[in-house]
Amino acid sequence: MKVFPISPRGYCHGVVSAIREMRAIAKDQSLPKPITVLGMVVHNKKIVQDFEELGLKTLHNPHKTRLELLDEIDEGTVVFTAHGVSEQVYRKAEEKGLTIIDTTCKDVKTSQKTIKSHLELGYAVLFIGKRTHPESETAQSYGDDVHIVETPDDVKNIRPKKEKLALTNQTTMSLFDIYTITEKIKTRFPDVKIIEEICDATKARQKAIMEQPSVDHCFVVGDPRSNNSKKLVSVAEEQGINASLIESVEDLDVDHLKTLTRVSITSGASTPTQITKEVVEFLKAFDPSDETTHRNESAVKKNNLFRR
Ligand code: SF4
Repeated sequence: MKVFPISPRGYCHGVVSAIREMRAIAKDQSLPKPITVLGMVVHNKKIVQDFEELGLKTLHNPHKTRLELLDEIDEGTVVFTAHGVSEQVYRKAEEKGLTIIDTTCKDVKTSQKTIKSHLELGYAVLFIGKRTHPESETAQSYGDDVHIVETPDDVKNIRPKKEKLALTNQTTMSLFDIYTITEKIKTRFPDVKIIEEICDATKARQKAIMEQPSVDHCFVVGDPRSNNSKKLVSVAEEQGINASLIESVEDLDVDHLKTLTRVSITSGASTPTQITKEVVEFLKAFDPSDETTHRNESAVKKNNLFRR
């Protein structure tokens, strides 16, 4: 089998920096305990589990906002994740007397500033994003002049109260999603000001998928909760490439692999490098007629990524 690892893939600068901070927090004996992470620090189960083992508890409930989750923390240190939080969350944490550590990615902060500055200039802001994503939660916290647009169908229901309209988006959307929804919005609001905010790391990973050699299948290594990983699958599919999301080498189906001759591999911005490396090595060694190469048990999953 010919194996094409796609580059760039994996950790983006925002995730690298959030993980670096989490490792420092885990070692810092001076921080008030307990230490609670508000939401998943990055959308990857393995990373969250390994930090839990080091004493950093994660509070995660996909049906609750960050503001609601904060009700469950009354003492110690709270860590804000790479996806950012609203000003209300920040204020509430301060009022509760919690020690705050903020790992918000700088690209998310730029997107937040874009929304706020346009609201101050008298625009209504249309925000393309997943309604339950923390970035959308923050956008919505800026008031009624922010309208979340998740699907092309949502466009007909937008009722802006301002004449001036600005359009922006969640940093991890796919170029295709943005394009389809943007075209629909331009038809309804031709004068809308467009400020595209997909972060460079997401764009580079999507572009690399579009430019990959011809393959039978593209494997995207990532957590099912990771928006940017799911978007990599959809970008490949938009190009007519068969693609699937796998969490680790254990999700590879040997019978499926026997039907493939050329495969590519990429990974989401929050996928640990070691997990992707294990997939690449397994696929490179895979021989349909040699059963000793078919055992796809993950050694990486058993070890803590951050324990020294
Ligand atoms: S995917 Fe982009 S916005 Fe999200 S953490 Fe990485 S660099 Fe930041």
